[in-house]
Amino acid sequence: MKEALHFISHILGFEKLSKYESEYLHDANIRSSSYMGAIVVFLELWMLIRQTRSKILPKYQAGGDLFELFVKYTTKYWLFLLIGLGITLFCVYQRERKLSKGQFVALLTVGLACIFYTGVLKLEAFTAVSDSVTPVMAGVMNVMLVSIYLLLFVIGATIVAYALFKYLRNRRVVVLEHLAIISFTLVCLAFGVFVSYSDFWGGKEIICFLTMVLYVGCLLIYRPYISALVLGVSFMAFYHILLTYQDGLSFQDQEVVINGVAQKIISGDAVNYITFFISLTTICFAIFHGRLNEANKSRALEKSAKKDFLTGMYNYSYFTELAKETIQGLGGEVGRYVFLFLDVHNFKAFNDQRGFEAGDRFLTTIGGHVCDIFQNSLCARQADDHFVVLTVTDDLEEKLDTLNRLVHEYDEEILLAINCGAYHLNGTHEDPRMAIDRARYAAHLIKNRFQTVYAEYDKTMSEAYHKRLYVVNNIDNAVNNGWIVPFYQPVVWSDTNELCGCEALARWKDPVYGQLFPNEFIPVLEEYRLIHKLDKAIFESVCRDMRAALDAGMPVVPVSLNFSRLDFELMDAVQELENIVEKYGISRDLIHVEVTESALTDDFVKLREEINRIKDLGYSLWLDDFGSGYSSLNVLKDYQFDVVKIDMRFLSSFENSEKSRTLIDCIIKMATRINMLTLTEGVETREQADFLHNIGCGRLQGYLFGKPIPKEQFYRRIDDGELVVSGKLL
Ligand code: C2E
Ligand code: CA
Ligand code: CA
Repeated sequence: MKEALHFISHILGFEKLSKYESEYLHDANIRSSSYMGAIVVFLELWMLIRQTRSKILPKYQAGGDLFELFVKYTTKYWLFLLIGLGITLFCVYQRERKLSKGQFVALLTVGLACIFYTGVLKLEAFTAVSDSVTPVMAGVMNVMLVSIYLLLFVIGATIVAYALFKYLRNRRVVVLEHLAIISFTLVCLAFGVFVSYSDFWGGKEIICFLTMVLYVGCLLIYRPYISALVLGVSFMAFYHILLTYQDGLSFQDQEVVINGVAQKIISGDAVNYITFFISLTTICFAIFHGRLNEANKSRALEKSAKKDFLTGMYNYSYFTELAKETIQGLGGEVGRYVFLFLDVHNFKAFNDQRGFEAGDRFLTTIGGHVCDIFQNSLCARQADDHFVVLTVTDDLEEKLDTLNRLVHEYDEEILLAINCGAYHLNGTHEDPRMAIDRARYAAHLIKNRFQTVYAEYDKTMSEAYHKRLYVVNNIDNAVNNGWIVPFYQPVVWSDTNELCGCEALARWKDPVYGQLFPNEFIPVLEEYRLIHKLDKAIFESVCRDMRAALDAGMPVVPVSLNFSRLDFELMDAVQELENIVEKYGISRDLIHVEVTESALTDDFVKLREEINRIKDLGYSLWLDDFGSGYSSLNVLKDYQFDVVKIDMRFLSSFENSEKSRTLIDCIIKMATRINMLTLTEGVETREQADFLHNIGCGRLQGYLFGKPIPKEQFYRRIDDGELVVSGKLL
């Protein structure tokens, strides 16, 4: 029983529709209204021509007053024509979800037409609507027409007022759209009843009425029960008019005399009209349910284009689209809104230790928290462990604290936390992508500060921010114009302090910013996955410099090159190096490859293969920055490094220098035990150098022996005898 009721309410369309379904049906109706409007316009033009030829001209030639004739025979058609035109234009321009200029004009046309025609209307014109009408019928028709005109006047005035109001506020005009659809329904049905009745023998010619009903029924789809009601009422009105027409419609066969002509009306007609009603209503039902299915199908499709596959949140591109619309609609409220860029601190470590699947689960959970905490805001996953939110500034601090706590509690062994960058909107014109990039920049500034959750982008950041953007946008220029140059820093033997090599360190000589240091461009280039362009340029410059020195018969020492982890992802790094080395005819033992320890924590088979390939080809493989970040002895076990580089500066942060000395001592001993050579960098004082020599560290590098300098200065220092090239280079 319950199921049967449910089924019936479903068929009749009583069920609650989702927002998406109603919008879809509504939009479909708006589209239909534009087709229908065009048809009405066409019909009205036709009627105007007909009236002119059959009524106005003959009566005018017989001495009638042209203006009077015109008002009498065409007013209603003009009115319908203008309304049809206005509504068509309105619906055609309904592309964006706000009032466009075209719609604004269309609305003004309809509104003013309604007002104008109600104003010039001469009610007497309608009493003589048809010579053959009975007094009762004339009354009925007048009431109908006058109410339509009055309704139109009210609608007209409302439309004009509303159009002005909405156009100025630039909002979507849903109310007006409903009004357009409803007035269309009324116009079409009234037109059908009216023309079918007054023009042909008492409605026996039902075609015009049926045509209009069909348009309304098939094009403007309402909920089935509303369709049935609308159709029912119009059929009833029509029957009523026909029945009151002398001896008009009847369920018995009979003969009537209409305009002096004998007519046979058979009961079949009446039955036919009822059949029409039933079949049209059925069609309405069928179309309604068809459209509902369409709506759900298209929603499924749209959803996949809008959602992030992992978290089910909006994806970034849809987010920016929505954000743009939202910002534009904010008006004076805009100052209360802020873009947040959320980054999970230490997510990489979580992924490494717990695996990718756990990482995915974590992101899904956190995505859910973000949506819960920032209810009524726009939230999306930008990429990786980054989320973006467009929200109001109210209670922001508490919300972020809650989120941070949830993130932290997710896995207390790994120090997880939220870094949130914020960008406050300054106006409705702002580009969401730009705004998010700024919020991201603010987040980036606190990236490695576990305690700091929140940073706002402000004017003082602006300069640094633009510098970053500049770097990203100009890396190609920099490479092509030779702005990227290697500086060389000496590496010496710890016993003799004689030169045994050098490290190539990139400098960016910029026409705008002057000299840029690696910390200003390396991290950005890595973040934007452009670092390989720089590294390739450095490889090439180093080999070119070396070739020039070899050709000039100058002393040449091996050079260490810094490889970024991303180089192995973004290019065939080994092959690129091989090509360059071959191009300049450089012996492989003159090149040392430095890879930082942190690059190797990801357990990528491919990375491991590539690194072994470097070694197999005969390059010396150096492990950079050992002891920084997450040291893992596995790195020493899994890869065949020739030299391990320890950075003093990482260790000097131990307040107890005794402890840090012991630590370096242990690292050097351990490396030596597993047959690795050792180098300590960041050596600034003679005591440090002596200590390192005493504990058996082979090579030293640091300001004590020289800062990174351009090639020319490097050679000058050799020429001046400040640097003595060792006889032993490997
Ligand atoms: P790194 O490879 O650890 O390079 C050593 C850094 O320590 C250099 O900074 C060097 O100038 C600095 N340094 C050397 N001795 C001393 C010292 O005694 N005291 C102090 N305070 N600092 C010293 P730089 O040139 O600014 O480079 C920073 C980082 O940028 C490098 O660290 C490296 O990771 C990256 N880098 C530099 N050039 C390149 C490159 O061509 N490609 C890639 N991928 N990364 C590069
Ligand atoms: Ca290095
Ligand atoms: Ca280093």
